Amino acid sequence: MQRMIAERLQDALLPFQHTLREHALAIDSDPRSISRVLDSGVPFHQFAGLPREFASDPLRVDGEALYLTSCEERVIATEILATGDASMVVGAPGASMSGVLIDALGSNRQRERFYSRVAERPIWTFFGLTEPNRGSDAASLETLVDGDGSGEGRLIGHKKFVGNAARAEIGVVFARFRPGPLGIGAVLVETDRRGFEATPLKTLGFRGVQLSEIQLDAVPVVGADLLGEHLTPSRRGILGAVQVFNALRPVVGALGLGIASAGLDYVRRERRSLRQDEAATMENFDARLQTVRALVRRAAALVDNGQADGAMSSAAKVLSVELASAVTQQMPRLVGGAIRWEHPYLDKLRRDVGALELMEGTSLIQRQNVATGYLQRGLGAARVAK
Ligand SMILES: Cc1cc2nc3c(=O)[nH]c(=O)nc-3n(C[C@H](O)[C@H](O)[C@H](O)COP(=O)(O)OP(=O)(O)OC[C@H]3O[C@@H](n4cnc5c(N)ncnc54)[C@H](O)[C@@H]3O)c2cc1C
Repeated sequence: MQRMIAERLQDALLPFQHTLREHALAIDSDPRSISRVLDSGVPFHQFAGLPREFASDPLRVDGEALYLTSCEERVIATEILATGDASMVVGAPGASMSGVLIDALGSNRQRERFYSRVAERPIWTFFGLTEPNRGSDAASLETLVDGDGSGEGRLIGHKKFVGNAARAEIGVVFARFRPGPLGIGAVLVETDRRGFEATPLKTLGFRGVQLSEIQLDAVPVVGADLLGEHLTPSRRGILGAVQVFNALRPVVGALGLGIASAGLDYVRRERRSLRQDEAATMENFDARLQTVRALVRRAAALVDNGQADGAMSSAAKVLSVELASAVTQQMPRLVGGAIRWEHPYLDKLRRDVGALELMEGTSLIQRQNVATGYLQRGLGAARVAK
């Protein structure tokens, strides 16, 4: 009988989890040292989210090629790798969030333009939505394309907290083309265009992601850059951003599972024997881990079946961040000592949870999504949230 996908991925990816963990603190103290991880034998191109037609050397497990393009495969692989270092999973080269947007909205030509570049060698990509004045509220973006609405013009604006942008070669930028909610769209841009400048930000958590800010000083764009040029304006704008967030939120949930597992693993390595009350705490965390994992995988399955309405994904993200937060809060008590000095790895995990809380929307916003799901569709959507 064929082994379950989770078990097979666990066996295949475990060595890479260990490698990521070995490098986690070095990346945390200097995100530029990522080049050492790239040379460490971790096959990042196999986790890069390349569709079948662009993946010449996919991950092979028990002889079968796995492309990790379904949400279910992604959450399983993400949890395993994030147990090594969650920030490296998001900070690795590959198609990342922009790939998901291109899958949803891109024309064949845009897919070719983007993926052939990502497949050729390890490069970073970026997803430019969040702005310093408007946050990630896509409906009120200030960045604009000053043309006639056709997509041709100059891209003008300022993006902030965008992962990997300072080292990316290509990515997407959300901008306003016309007034009104249907006037938002996303353009595919190369970072060597005139007027594009991205610089890294100093951050406390998830430092492997190298959050950046982007100045867009009249970057030239043409009609062929507008994602979804073949779609109606209602299908290519904010809806595109919402689709990406709904599809990726279970993956963010898997990052939280990874951080929680990493914390629990660390405690077990440090403390060979536990007092009864401590053992009970660990058992309780293990049980919660199983429950939240089931929820994350359920949310991923809904995405793959085209049934995701966002509520389950939001619940998965909230509960996974809550678990990672609870584990990392308890860790100092379980290992003893001052974590910042004596257990820098735990200190890093704690800081990473803070970033995860913000990533793709805070818990408060996720709870609002669950509540909206409940009000619109009934208990099935809301039972999972506290
Ligand atoms: C590690 C990391 C990676 C990221 N990567 C990217 C990226 O690649 N691309 C990108 O574009 N962005 C990225 N971001 C930015 C991120 O998506 C946003 O910061 C996040 O979605 C939060 O949105 P916001 O900044 O608009 O905050 P808001 O949603 O405005 O929240 C700000 C505060 O206000 C509170 N709040 C919001 N609404 C309400 C309300 N109705 N009632 C009461 N309180 C409220 C929130 O709980 C929060 O405390 C990244 C962020 C992090 C931390």
